Amino acid sequence: MEVFKTKAALKSALDKLKSVGQQIALVPTMGALHEGHLELVRQAGQHGETVVCSIFVNPTQFNDPEDLKKYPRPIERDIQLLESAGCDILFLPEVEEIYAEQEEWHLDLGYLDEILEGQHRPGHFQGVTQVVYKLFDIVQPHKAIFGLKDLQQFMVVQQLIDLKQLPIALIPASIVREKDGLAMSSRNVRLSPEGRKQALVLHRILQATMADFQQVLKGEKYLEDLRLQAIAQLEKAPGVQLEYFEICELYTLKKADNNTPLKNLVALTAVWVEGVRLIDNMILGQTNP
Ligand code: AMP
Repeated sequence: MEVFKTKAALKSALDKLKSVGQQIALVPTMGALHEGHLELVRQAGQHGETVVCSIFVNPTQFNDPEDLKKYPRPIERDIQLLESAGCDILFLPEVEEIYAEQEEWHLDLGYLDEILEGQHRPGHFQGVTQVVYKLFDIVQPHKAIFGLKDLQQFMVVQQLIDLKQLPIALIPASIVREKDGLAMSSRNVRLSPEGRKQALVLHRILQATMADFQQVLKGEKYLEDLRLQAIAQLEKAPGVQLEYFEICELYTLKKADNNTPLKNLVALTAVWVEGVRLIDNMILGQTNP
């Protein structure tokens, strides 16, 4: 695996590959890699594409300075993991390589910027689109792979691609979970063994919601019952502070109500455990892991 720290060096290597017809797949990450990221890398290269992974802890998408400070950065380990997963190129820039001193950015994300993650992390998706647009511009990949763990982010990136009319195929990757169901996240390492156990409630409640969705399909319960039930459970879960739990239409993320057609729905939640913010989601009425 080749490691590039500057845009210029990366671009010149990629130009050579593109000139002989090589397809490029990009996997943007913030590092502290786990099996979820490595699945993205494997998926990126499955048709012989050159896989470029970026590791960049992007300051503009952190609305909480403490979270940015505490974000894990185990770079030597990340490099080994990427090599073992078959990554071809790592782009590892410093902040100054990506941002000039003063930069303005605003993309009209409409409703997506105001709900769920957008509502609870003001400015987050502006920061995400700002850095992803820069990475797309530097790498100019044929495709980009993003995980569905960050479902709303996936939709925001699709909107970026549409608005800027970029010739990039956005490829979704399923959520990778620990054996006990906890969605893998770089932030999980900040949980104590006790907190980690408490965090399992997220997956438990999502699964229960998915199971109870069968009753909604049979007309025995309303969607709103499921939402209120999940909220009540999460509110009384020890060590857990609930931020949101919503059932939404999958392709728009509009909040579902009792009149919403019972297909293509997703339950999404965000909670805090031991000062760590965790998110998860599950598509209802499908076989989820
Ligand atoms: P991050 O490093 O957290 O910014 O994530 C980089 C990419 O990995 C994003 O596209 C995430 O959606 C994806 N990702 C993170 N965790 C998981 C997971 N558990 N399963 C699948 N994809 C994930």
